[in-house]
Amino acid sequence: MTENHHNWPQALIEGFLRFRDNRFPSDDIKYLRLFAEGQKPKFLIVGCCDSRVDPALIFDCEPGELFVIRNVANLVPPNEERVGHHGTTAALEYGVCNLGVEHIVVLGHAHCGGIQNLLQTGVTANPDSFIDDWMRLVDSARISVERDYAAASAEQRQTACEQRAIMVSLENLLTFPWIAQRVAAGTLRLHGWYLDINQGQLLGYNAQTLQFEPL
Ligand SMILES: [Zn+2]
Repeated sequence: MTENHHNWPQALIEGFLRFRDNRFPSDDIKYLRLFAEGQKPKFLIVGCCDSRVDPALIFDCEPGELFVIRNVANLVPPNEERVGHHGTTAALEYGVCNLGVEHIVVLGHAHCGGIQNLLQTGVTANPDSFIDDWMRLVDSARISVERDYAAASAEQRQTACEQRAIMVSLENLLTFPWIAQRVAAGTLRLHGWYLDINQGQLLGYNAQTLQFEPL
């Protein structure tokens, strides 16, 4: 599909020009070194596509610091048979095996549309919807929340499901031998974090207390 350049999104082009003319010259040595020497990020972030939760902005990081994977609802699939195209898994493999990141952070967030979709579609998920099918990855989170939070408000259920989905993704990370081996050797650490936009807080999953606690 081609289009007349008058239809190009002007806001993005103007943003690039500001980057090229303002930000890049003030940081040019850093950028040029990054491209000459290659990237060596310590942190791999699995975040949501949501436009409000950009990891580089939230963690105030510079280019080269974060290796970021974003998908609907920041999910990690388990190690499974080689059918289909595994974008998230391929990026995980690259970050862990090629770049040697030292930390993986699964970054969940409040008001997640993917989790809301999961709770709303429930058992009536449409197999023809890519979103519904993708969100089945954390159906165990939905089932446990509906069991444990039957009397809670819709908002409490949503928060609980967002946090339990992070725990499912942490378990799934360990199904990859190249992750499990590095975690056992102490060269890779896994973290489940939750951005609570309402409270302006970042919570971390504590495996001892089994709770999400302010960091
Ligand atoms: Zn989300």
